Amino acid sequence: MVATELRTDPITGRTVAIDLGPFRRRDDFDLQPARLDDPPAQCPFCEGREAQAGPEILAWREGGPANLPGWSVRVVPNRNSMLRIEGRTDVRSDGLLESRDGLGAHEVIIETPIHDQPLHTLDADRLWRVLWAWRTRIHDLKRDSRFSSIVIFKNHGRSSGARLDHSHSQLTAFPLIPPALADKLLGASRHMSINGTCVFCGLLSQELTDRRRMISDQGAVLAIAPYASRVPFETWLMPRDHSARFEEATDATLHALASTFKSVMARIDWALERPAYNCVLHTAPLSGEADAAFHWHLEIIPRVTRYSGLEWGSGVHRNPVSPEEAAEVLRGRSEG
Ligand SMILES: [Zn+2]
Ligand SMILES: [Zn+2]
Repeated sequence: MVATELRTDPITGRTVAIDLGPFRRRDDFDLQPARLDDPPAQCPFCEGREAQAGPEILAWREGGPANLPGWSVRVVPNRNSMLRIEGRTDVRSDGLLESRDGLGAHEVIIETPIHDQPLHTLDADRLWRVLWAWRTRIHDLKRDSRFSSIVIFKNHGRSSGARLDHSHSQLTAFPLIPPALADKLLGASRHMSINGTCVFCGLLSQELTDRRRMISDQGAVLAIAPYASRVPFETWLMPRDHSARFEEATDATLHALASTFKSVMARIDWALERPAYNCVLHTAPLSGEADAAFHWHLEIIPRVTRYSGLEWGSGVHRNPVSPEEAAEVLRGRSEG
């Protein structure tokens, strides 16, 4: 029988069940091929089909006109958007029931003009341009006072929710604080009010001393396997120095993030045989009091396990690989 430990996430307080047995990759994992194998000939994100992808909001171009080939990163409205840029901001009530217009922005960042080029295989400068596009779009959207928060995420591979193989990320600007961010903000604010410090800074300091869950401590962006990891090889990338807002990251910090992301994803690809994964950028709300308490971070969530009734019913994730074991495996693999 596998020994299991119930761990509490130091930020949100959520419970995770961690199996403490040895790393058993093949037995426990759902290692479906990540690729969807959608035909490049019909892909709207490939260079030359700019009209299909939609009018560009932002692009990195070495000269040349908009909406034609010649770009390396391109941002367009999401054609399957769940949010609309026009709408009312008020909340409607019907007894116990509440709703509001699906107001917001939903954009797609096409990360490369080439169909079969996963994000972490871009060279570091090209990957930096993707992060530059994220930062630039947050700066622009935060001028719209109807929006409270921005979440950037990435679906890669079949079981991540992706619909296309062509590498892209998505940005959502909400008129509210979504629950996953709200949980973190609440925990961070609680820690600040009791201890007067940033919980993420405290966590990084403890992990740098402990070492068991440290994956990479090179440069300005660190990689850790979180203590209460929900899935095997969950990884958080965080700036070493306190910073609540991704949009305030310097060019140098974005270069450090690009480099750490490349190296960590290369190792995860090796350990899990090129898995599907999600990435989520959590950054402080666009206005408010979170600057001292919150600390931006990028979560990498490999999708090699499935949610079951346990997760839906209890909110407790069962993780068959301890973060100590995952960090050891990822540390043991040199970059490449
Ligand atoms: Zn394509
Ligand atoms: Zn901090």
